[in-house]
Amino acid sequence: MMAQYLDIKAQHRDAILFYRMGDFYEMFFDDAVAAAEALDIALTKRGQHLGQDIPMCGVPVVRGEEYLLALIRKGFRVAIAEQMEDPAEAKKRGSKSVVRREVVRLVTPGTLTEETLLDARRHNFLAAWAQVRDDAALAWVDISTGEFRVTPCPAPRLGPELARLAPREVLLSETAGEDLAGIVTDHAATPTLLGRASFDSAAAEKRLCTLWNVTTLEGFGSYGRAELAAMGAIADYLDLTQRGKLPLLRPPVRETAASAMQIDAATRRNLEITASLSGGREGSLLAAIDMTVTAAGGRLLERRLASPARDLAVIRARHDALRFLLDNRRLAEDLRAALRRVPDMDRALSRLALDRGGPRDLAAIRAGLEQAGAIAAQIGAGAPAVLAEATVALQGHEGLAQSLSDALVPEPPLLVRDGNFIAPGHDGELDETRALRDQGRGVIARMQADYAAQTGIGSLKIKHNNVLGYFIETTATHAEKMRAPPLSERFIHRQTTANQVRFTTLELSDLETRILNAANHALDIEKRLYECLKALVLDHAGPIGLAARALAEIDLAAALAELAAAEDWCEPVVDDSHAFEVEGGRHPVVERALRRTGTPFVANDCALTDGGTPAIWLLTGPNMAGKSTFLRQNALIALLAQAGSFVPARRARIGLVSQLFSRVGAADDLARGRSTFMVEMVETAGILNQADDRALVILDEIGRGTATYDGLSIAWAVLEHLHDTNRCRALFATHYHEMTALAGKLPGVENATVSVKEWQGEVIFLHEVRKGAADRSYGVQVARLAGLPQAVVDRARVVLEALEKGEREGGGARPKALIDDLPLFAASPPPTPPRAAPQPSAVEERLRDVHPDTLTPLEALQLVYDLRGLL
Ligand code: ADP
Repeated sequence: MMAQYLDIKAQHRDAILFYRMGDFYEMFFDDAVAAAEALDIALTKRGQHLGQDIPMCGVPVVRGEEYLLALIRKGFRVAIAEQMEDPAEAKKRGSKSVVRREVVRLVTPGTLTEETLLDARRHNFLAAWAQVRDDAALAWVDISTGEFRVTPCPAPRLGPELARLAPREVLLSETAGEDLAGIVTDHAATPTLLGRASFDSAAAEKRLCTLWNVTTLEGFGSYGRAELAAMGAIADYLDLTQRGKLPLLRPPVRETAASAMQIDAATRRNLEITASLSGGREGSLLAAIDMTVTAAGGRLLERRLASPARDLAVIRARHDALRFLLDNRRLAEDLRAALRRVPDMDRALSRLALDRGGPRDLAAIRAGLEQAGAIAAQIGAGAPAVLAEATVALQGHEGLAQSLSDALVPEPPLLVRDGNFIAPGHDGELDETRALRDQGRGVIARMQADYAAQTGIGSLKIKHNNVLGYFIETTATHAEKMRAPPLSERFIHRQTTANQVRFTTLELSDLETRILNAANHALDIEKRLYECLKALVLDHAGPIGLAARALAEIDLAAALAELAAAEDWCEPVVDDSHAFEVEGGRHPVVERALRRTGTPFVANDCALTDGGTPAIWLLTGPNMAGKSTFLRQNALIALLAQAGSFVPARRARIGLVSQLFSRVGAADDLARGRSTFMVEMVETAGILNQADDRALVILDEIGRGTATYDGLSIAWAVLEHLHDTNRCRALFATHYHEMTALAGKLPGVENATVSVKEWQGEVIFLHEVRKGAADRSYGVQVARLAGLPQAVVDRARVVLEALEKGEREGGGARPKALIDDLPLFAASPPPTPPRAAPQPSAVEERLRDVHPDTLTPLEALQLVYDLRGLL
């Protein structure tokens, strides 16, 4: 057995081998050590190898998936070796024979299909990046839904694309180098290195033809060699991991950089689009606005937010659908009610194709198709294009839905081996077999009655014993009749006892075997019927996939319409101008968080307009005033509009945004080993080098990661570059008040500030954005609100006053000189007048002579009156 184990293991060195032994998956050697630690299970020993104990651990097969998930989550790959024959058969070959085992599947992060291993609302992408000479491409696939896409992708775009798609696993050529693998791990994906042969573009064509069962790929469009290589690597890897069982993949769709709004990784992080800064979905834009009722709808929303469109026609068509649903609220509600009953057809289909499915997946298809018909009927004629097109894909499935519905019981079990999922009345043989299994006695009783009638022998009985099994018994008198023609032709004599004669018939012995085997037989028939139904469904995989997509599209439209109604969002005007006008804009996530505390969100306008008027707002104002919120809300409004949603504003007009950039100064990124300031500058350089005149740029406190003057000069130069060279729309928040002077110099820059009120030495945040520069920063007041000790706050005020005075008088602060001027150590105790030899007051004089212990209560009270009198 160890020899067999080592043999299999040698072919799967980079994976943990789950070696099936009866009811357990066992792991040995280093696998056992790694798995025992990762799974927190006991590590034991079993036998010896080369004189050493063999470490071993195991997990029960029934809980296999759970442990598998834990290992995959920790970044392992798992090869599953199953027993390919009954141990009894191995025995037959000889007492030393080992049960034949084979790896039936290689489970990797990017190739999961099990419901328990997947997040219903998230895609599970496997990507491959290939380079052929100067061309490079990225292909990606979700084998649990069949989605297959490819895009040209030069190496510098790999990071941004990975940020957009968030794949779980990325295939790279062995020759790709560590840098690329590093980019993959930076994006929380597992890099998997494959030999160069996997990326061969000529072989790729053949593999892809096999995958789609076509002789040429021409029907799918024409692809460059890098694109073919990337897609081919995926096909090769699927063949390897799925052991020849190819998943159902839709024909490839090419995405081009021009079709989607470009958003890089840092921007995605900063704007917390699909994940919050802490990494989870909670707190993200996606979580705040997801009102879809199906898993596929949820996945579609994530995709849309990750790649908002850049095509006006596409964007407007999506808005049309929302407006229609808002005008027809009843319809929208009915649709959502019907959609709630739609299961995840994509994933059911994929499991069926990979032979990992079961009756419940067939039932999911049935339920989905039934709802599809109903939903198409609800939408009817006259709907806008997005809905009308979806409706087409929902029609024509009645036949299949009916077949499934005729064949299956209402609530089938998960697994085929559980049986009892085919509906009664569907298959005569199955009904009979089940009848035998369940009511064997009843069938015999009927047969007995039949025989009694046929022979005219009322006392004839069918009986059973362990020796003969079932037999027909009659008295000797009646036996004569049965032993003579014509009855003797059917009734075969078995045995004669003292006063009974026993017979059988072909029919009865047949019945007997059938009863005995009925349970097994029933299951076999069900398995056969399952295979037929599965084949029937897979024959329709294409149209079913389209219907599933259409349902997701309708779900998303209805959900976004519901959101717009519930949150009072407006339909944005998107055109090909360079306008950016938002009236009464809000931040959807902050607003939601504030609502929980009962605080209203203050809506704000923003107008970065076109045609000579200002296109950059320079925003100043104290910390905590709401600058970041304002910046981000405007970026999110552009993103939502182009993702096809309505927007959190009273009115919005947005000239198509091609690229969205958002940077926050001095984000802590020590984990990646670069200084925060360096990261900030690298990211800023990225914007200045890439932003075109259709970009929307959000810069929050750029330059604060370094010394004041460096920071100010950098921020200053960046703003000038955006204005003069990039000529893009931008919102620029800074605490360098000196920069407000730029508005006078650059025609495209306008000052804006988030207003605060000062009241009795405290700041009150109004969160209102208005034109003009902030008069001061209120940092000291904010520090006080944050709970800094009073002495520190007082000292800060003194320093501030001195600095401001220096600036007024000396034309620019000279901190060094100022420090010399400031009284030292004045922070504690507070800078009150010097205490040198003060004159004691009358009250103090009087108190000095008091001896508290000798005072009666009445005297004490009198003393208080006296002291009061001395004031
Ligand atoms: P800044 O960037 O100026 O330091 P933030 O944008 O981080 O300030 O906002 C600080 C806090 O003020 C937010 O967490 C939020 O609670 C509140 N806030 C910001 N903008 C608004 C608004 N428009 N209406 C209501 N509260 C707001």
